[in-house]
Amino acid sequence: MTLTGKHALVTGGGTGIGLAIAQALAAQGAKVTITGRRMAVLEEVAGENMYPAVMDVTDEAAVRDVIDAAVAARGPIQIVVANAGIAEGRKLHKTDTDFWRQIMATNLDGAFFTIREALRSMTQTDWGRVIAISSIAGVRGLPGAGAYSASKHGVIGMIRSLSEDFMGSNYTFNSICPGYVATDIITRNVDAIQERSGMSADDALKVMVNANRHKRLIDASEIAQAALWLCGPGSGSVNGQEIQIAGGKV
Ligand code: NDP
Repeated sequence: MTLTGKHALVTGGGTGIGLAIAQALAAQGAKVTITGRRMAVLEEVAGENMYPAVMDVTDEAAVRDVIDAAVAARGPIQIVVANAGIAEGRKLHKTDTDFWRQIMATNLDGAFFTIREALRSMTQTDWGRVIAISSIAGVRGLPGAGAYSASKHGVIGMIRSLSEDFMGSNYTFNSICPGYVATDIITRNVDAIQERSGMSADDALKVMVNANRHKRLIDASEIAQAALWLCGPGSGSVNGQEIQIAGGKV
C-alpha cells in the first residue's frame, strides 16, 4: 500500500493510539499533521512525514484555523482520524454538569469540529477516509462511565449518519471501538480505580485486562493496523461500520 501524496490529520497524534496510527500512516508515505494541546509532546515524536500543530479540539475557532493552515501547507486533508479524547469513569448519578460538559466537549464536540472542518477540503478531492476512535463504551453501556459512554455512542451516531450523507461517494466513514489498550489512559484509570476502591494497582489493572474478551491488554499498534486497513485499497466498501477491537465481540 502507498499513501504517498495523501495528507492525513490525526488528532491526539502525539501519544498512545493516535501516535501509533500517525506513525503507521507516515510509514506508508502520507504527510501526517499530528495535533494535541502540548507542543513539546508533539515535537518529541515529529519527524519524517509527521508535522506537529497545537490544536485544542474543544476550541471551534482554533480547529478551523489550524486545519486551514495545515491544508495551506500540505494540501487537502484526505484522511482524518478523530482520536483525541479523555476517559474518566464516574457513575452518572454522581456526575456533575461541568464534568459531563468537559467529556462531551472533548470527545463529541471535538470529533464533530475536526471532521466538519477536515471535510471542507476533503470534499474538494475525489477520495477520502474518515475514522473516529470511539470505544467499546460506544457500543455498550460501560458501568461507572455514563458521560464517557454517552460521548462515544454519540461519535458512532455521527459517523453512521455521515456515511449515509455521502453514500455512493469515494469517502468512507467508520468508527474503531477499542477495548482496553495499553496507553496513558490505562495508567490514569488504574490510579482512579485505586483511589475510588482502595484496590492494589495490580488488581485495578486486572479489572481492565479481564474486561477484554481475550484477557490481555491490546497494543496501540493493533488499532493502528485496523486504521491503516481502512485507508488501504481493499476496504473501500466498508462504510458506516463500528469495528470492535477488544479480543471478541462485547
Ligand atoms: P492518550 O491519553 O494517550 O491520548 C489522548 C490524546 O488526546 C492525547 O494525545 C491528548 O493530547 C489528546 N487530547 C486530549 N484532550 C484534547 C483536547 N482537548 N484537544 C486536543 N487534544 C486532546 O490515550 P489513548 O491513546 O488511549 O486515547 C486515544 C483515544 O482512544 C481516546 O479518544 C480514547 O477515548 C480512545 N480509547 C482508548 C482506549 C484505551 O484503553 N486506551 C479504549 C477505547 C478508546 P494532549 O493531552 O497533549 O492534548
